[in-house]
Amino acid sequence: MVKKYSKTKLKMFQKIIEEKMGVVTEDVDAIKDNMGSASNKQGGNTPDAIYSLHMADAGTDSHEQEKNFMLMNRGSDYFKNLEVALVRVKDGSYGICKICEELIVEERLVEVPCATKCVSCKETEKLGL
Ligand SMILES: [Zn+2]
Repeated sequence: MVKKYSKTKLKMFQKIIEEKMGVVTEDVDAIKDNMGSASNKQGGNTPDAIYSLHMADAGTDSHEQEKNFMLMNRGSDYFKNLEVALVRVKDGSYGICKICEELIVEERLVEVPCATKCVSCKETEKLGL
């Protein structure tokens, strides 16, 4: 008895996920822009440029940069999770709890589109059971 969300619902979730992806992309871009203007006058806003800048900058006064990198990494982790969610929407397995295989409630998915566990499994996990 495998439960699934209907095609219509999946379409709706897909939209939510894609919107979130757009927001994350904008956030990360904004951070990159900030870093570009604050610390790199040569321009070059490609991720590669930023990466090498980060490597070269290790050990110098880069508290602000560290913070930005953390935000950026968090952003891209989130983005990756959203990408995975999108794949699951497409193969129809979206919204199914990884652990108990019950459907994750719709409200939770709207709030946390990359959720892969239902609330009770998540809670159990938090308690370390
Ligand atoms: Zn579950």
